[in-house]
Amino acid sequence: MNEKTRPPDDASLRSRFRGLLFDLDGVVFRGHVAVPHAVEVINEMRETGLGVAFVTNNASSPPEDVGDRLRGFGVRMRDEEVVTSAQAAAAYVARLVPPGTPVLAIGGPGVSRALQGVGLVPVSPAERAAASRPVEAVLQGFGKDIGWSDLAEASYAVQTGVPWVATNGDLTIPMADGIAPGNGSLLGCVRNACGVDPVAIVGKPHPPLYELAASVLGVPADGTLAIGDRLDTDIAGAVAVRMESLWVTTGANTPADTALAPPSHRPRFIAYDLRALREPYDDPVVDAQPGVYRATCGAAEFTVTGGAVRGAGRGTPNQRLRAFIVACWAAADGGTPLDLDSVRRCSETLVGEQDNFDQNNPIRNNPIGQDKLFERGDLADQDAQGAP
Ligand SMILES: [Mg+2]
Repeated sequence: MNEKTRPPDDASLRSRFRGLLFDLDGVVFRGHVAVPHAVEVINEMRETGLGVAFVTNNASSPPEDVGDRLRGFGVRMRDEEVVTSAQAAAAYVARLVPPGTPVLAIGGPGVSRALQGVGLVPVSPAERAAASRPVEAVLQGFGKDIGWSDLAEASYAVQTGVPWVATNGDLTIPMADGIAPGNGSLLGCVRNACGVDPVAIVGKPHPPLYELAASVLGVPADGTLAIGDRLDTDIAGAVAVRMESLWVTTGANTPADTALAPPSHRPRFIAYDLRALREPYDDPVVDAQPGVYRATCGAAEFTVTGGAVRGAGRGTPNQRLRAFIVACWAAADGGTPLDLDSVRRCSETLVGEQDNFDQNNPIRNNPIGQDKLFERGDLADQDAQGAP
């Protein structure tokens, strides 16, 4: 860390940390568009001397492709600062088998490149199908060109009893046209065929990816801030490795989702967008009386009475957002069922106040609806089955 670049009286959120781990989709960009303010803030964080890494569950692209994409948006960064779930998964496989071992590589080029990077020999499904290349392990990650033959080869290999490692368990991928199957859904095909689970799923929310990213930064978990837009991956993963986290509203989950999140999915810090890293962080203060839960943050105040949440409408936008969410957490923890209509109304009002809210946000506006996140128990359960 370059202390010279940091003012001695710096009280900003960033000054509490030595390293920042940025999720990509919904934090730095959304599809082909940079998230407002993200590029300028990330470049500014680097100039303060903070360690920066970009952590993605997407295994399909190698780090240099991800780097090209980020630099195309104007982010100043090096390829070595990208940490993918394919890299974390390949490192996991390398602990199970000796160097030079042939490993079936299912997924995009990021998967085979990651295996080469740890001294293993990637074998394509076509090579294995030709029976010329027996494999000693299977590494399965996402790739848009994966077809039935690839999944069949994965299944045949898994049935021989070799270790099966997965990059990530995301069931879905938000696309411009709607929700598409993610790697977790493709894992389900192999799981259904073989009746076994991967020996490990390494991507967020499982610990190996964040652990690898922290080691790339050279900063311990307690000096690192994980920044993300998804509660079930970015934030739950940070909670799992005891890393502090910042949740931003620019991606998948809404303020209502976060207000309704169980403790295992709650971020330590809450903000509309990355500009909060520059600013002092106001922690909300909770006053809990029987049946009445009030959270104040600066001049903002939200109160849950009889399960219904209402805001006083003062304070800065970030203060209002934090007071809203923390008041809901306090009520839920106090055993008061929240009135979902009032939670959603407050959430929509808060988001509607923001200039960076995009009604066409392709990540958030999807047919499944992120507010069903915690009604879909299958999502967390399937990931957990393969947890190392
Ligand atoms: Mg994301």
